Parts: sequence; C-alpha cells; structure tokens
Amino acid sequence: MLSTIQIKRDTYGTEDHQMVRQALIDFLSKEAIPHQEEWEKQKCAPKSFWKKMGELGFLCMDIPQEYGGSAFDFSFNAMILEESRRLGIDFGQAVHSDIVAPYILRYGNEEQKKHYLPKMVSGDMIGSIGMSEPSAGSDLKSLKTTAVDKGDHYLVNGSKTFITNGYVCDFVCCAVRTNPGLPTEGISLLLIDKTLDGFTTGQPFDKLGIKYQDTCELFFEDVKVPKTQLLGDEGMGFRYMMSDLPRERIGIAVESLGTAIGVVEKTIQYVTEREAFGQSIADFQNTQFKLADCVAEVQVYQTFLDKCVELQIKHELTTEQASIAKLKATEMQGKVVDECLQLFGGYGFIWEYDVARAYAGSRVARIYGGTSEIMKLIISRGIFKEHYMAKKQAREKQQEAKASV
Ligand SMILES: Cc1cc2nc3c(=O)[nH]c(=O)nc-3n(C[C@H](O)[C@H](O)[C@H](O)COP(=O)(O)OP(=O)(O)OC[C@H]3O[C@@H](n4cnc5c(N)ncnc54)[C@H](O)[C@@H]3O)c2cc1C
Repeated sequence: MLSTIQIKRDTYGTEDHQMVRQALIDFLSKEAIPHQEEWEKQKCAPKSFWKKMGELGFLCMDIPQEYGGSAFDFSFNAMILEESRRLGIDFGQAVHSDIVAPYILRYGNEEQKKHYLPKMVSGDMIGSIGMSEPSAGSDLKSLKTTAVDKGDHYLVNGSKTFITNGYVCDFVCCAVRTNPGLPTEGISLLLIDKTLDGFTTGQPFDKLGIKYQDTCELFFEDVKVPKTQLLGDEGMGFRYMMSDLPRERIGIAVESLGTAIGVVEKTIQYVTEREAFGQSIADFQNTQFKLADCVAEVQVYQTFLDKCVELQIKHELTTEQASIAKLKATEMQGKVVDECLQLFGGYGFIWEYDVARAYAGSRVARIYGGTSEIMKLIISRGIFKEHYMAKKQAREKQQEAKASV
C-alpha cells in the first residue's frame, strides 16, 4: 500500500515478533476494535477482555517463566504497545504490564512475586499505579497519603487521582508517606488490594480522549494494609519510582509512534479515495508534501526509538534519554495527527473516524508520565550538571575559607 516508503515497522523482525504481532492484530481486530463505542460508554474495557489478552499471552510479556510469563525481552512489550496504538486501541495495559509488573518483579519478595505476577500475566488481576494526588502531580515529593506504622500493619489515609485502571484494577501499587519528616526518604510503596475495608474508588472520569482507558480517584480511609504488602524497603519508594520512570517514558514514546504510524496509514488511504475538484485529495501537492513530512517524521523517530528500546533491553537507557524520547515523540505525535486530521476535512472531526479519536487521545501524552515541562527540566539538569557541580564546589570552598578565618 505504501509503495517504497515503509512506515510499518519491521525492526522487531524475528519470526517470534512477527507471529506475536500478527496474532495481536487478529485478536484486536476481532475483540477490541468493534467494541470501542460500547467501552467508551462504559468508560472502561471489561475485565473479560483483559482475561482474553492474558490467555493469549499479550500481558506482561517479559515476566520470567517461573512467574507465568513468556520471558520475552522488552522489545515484545514495546511492539505490543506500538501495534495496539497503531490500531487505535488503548485500554491501560501499559500501566499493568510495563509499570506495575516490573516494579513487583524488581522490588517484590518471593511471596509477592508468586502471588501477583502469574495472575497479572493471565489477566486474572489488574494492576494500577498510584502516585498522583490532588495536590501532588509533577511535584511528587509533596504527596500526602499517609501510612502509619501500627505494628503488623500500616494504617493508610488519603487519596489519589488520575489513576489509570483505577476503576477496574484489583490492586494499586501505591506511593505513601511512611515518614512525614522526610520529603523523599519518607516515601514507600505498598501493594494495596481493592478488597480491603476503607479502600474505595470514584467513577471513571469523563475524559477528552482515551475514553475507555479508565481513569479515576482512589480513596483510603483507615485502610489496614498488612506489613507484608510493603514493596521493597521502607523509605525507598521515591528512589524506586525515579529509577523505573525511563521504562514508563520510553513506553509512552513508543505508543506515540504507534499512533502516528496508524494515523498516517489511514490518511494515505483516505486521501487516495476522497475526491475534490475532479481529482483525488492525494493529487494535490499540498497533500503530498504534508504526508511526506509526516512519513519522514515517523521514520526518524522509528530509528531513534529503536535505539532507546535496545538500550532499555540492556537496562542502559538513561533518565535523560528516556525524557528526550518522551518529550519529542509525544510532540511529533501531536503534530502528525493534527496534520493528518486536516487532510480528512470535516470527517476528521467526527468521532467515528479513528483520526478524531487519535487527535483527542494524543493530547494527554504530553501530560501523563511526567509533563513536557518536567521532561525539559530533567534534560536541562543533565546538560548543566557539571556547571552546577562546579558552582556548588566553589560555594563550599568559599564557606571553608570563611570558616578558617
Ligand atoms: C489520563 C491520565 C492518566 C493518568 N494516569 C496516572 C496513573 O496511572 N498514575 C498516576 O500516579 N498518575 C497518573 N496521571 C497523572 C499525571 O501523571 C499527572 O497529571 C502529571 O504528572 C501532571 O501532574 P498534574 O496534573 O498535577 O499537573 P501539575 O503538576 O499541577 O502541573 C500543571 C502545569 O504546571 C507545569 N509545571 C509543574 N511543575 C513545573 C516546573 N517545575 N517547571 C515548569 N513547569 C511546571 C506542568 O508541566 C503543567 O503544565 C494521569 C493523568 C492523566 C490525565
């Protein structure tokens, strides 16, 4: 369809990748695409769909076999994210497979891993991540949900907001304050099961886009969370979250690429079919130049993101690199989808057209997982690291000199 321009990825080109990719396309075409409207009304994808994803092995693909997974590398997870988005499907599996499961694998004890991971792989349990609060989004350090040590349990009080999968999930990996006196070292992660008394959720929010990826508030009122639910060490939560953010961010970048690829493909098809002034929309030079730009953007990002995925597989992707990937790929997604929507004319504004859904859904990529401004802060810190180190050392020397006078 795309003649000599290949925008559909074949980076993940092993036979296994191709088999999984085709199985996913077949599955989503039958089990997800036709149900989007219904799920949008319900504001979430049903648990039965998660279970089917699990049965076919599409959840948590890189979890080791001893915990029920397929032990594939991260490129399979990336491919699932990209391909789902290419088809316009987004139901919150990135949070489940690429944030929560890796936390448990990396920081959980044996009992926690055996309890949660196999059920996450099979889709019997859905996970969510609870960082953001009404007064703590970008500034995570100021989170207020407390977990007070009561001997054999923590007493948890507070609330979380904007939690993806919050409504359908069975548990939340939740950032709580275990020591009010310490800003970062006072934060810990708890695995909090939905069944516990005092744990309630709001209704899923009415969102601008990604309407069946449920997003809601979580409330904790005197919830007794057994001490055995502490993930890793007490006081290490903030450090754990910071060290795992590159994976979340490269995941979002890959999803952005997938959306852009899908929209460009659909636009190429549309402009060849639609006519105006006695010719197809594709025959206008403006259309050709716009799509040439879009295809070029997509190809440039494919190359860069492939490199990032490779680094992530080797656990070598840095926070700065992941931030660059997220910042730029999400911007590219916004730009490409906007240009493509224009080529659809009025139809691009109609919800039943995938490009309208993609347009609405794209906006949040520059907000969640750390806003674009926060990405720029992280990248700037990397650029000026030595400059500020030198300033700090000079200040310390000055203070030493003053003290010795
Ligand atoms: C659909 C959706 C799903 C989400 N899923 C989850 C989830 O599963 N789990 C979870 O924990 N959170 C989730 N979030 C929350 C998301 O991560 C936050 O919305 C995001 O981190 C921004 O926080 P905030 O909304 O409080 O904005 P604020 O932090 O209030 O920021 C407002 C504005 O100020 C800017 N700003 C803030 N600080 C600075 C600074 N230092 N310098 C320059 N500008 C700054 C921001 O960039 C932004 O433009 C989700 C959000 C949405 C919309």
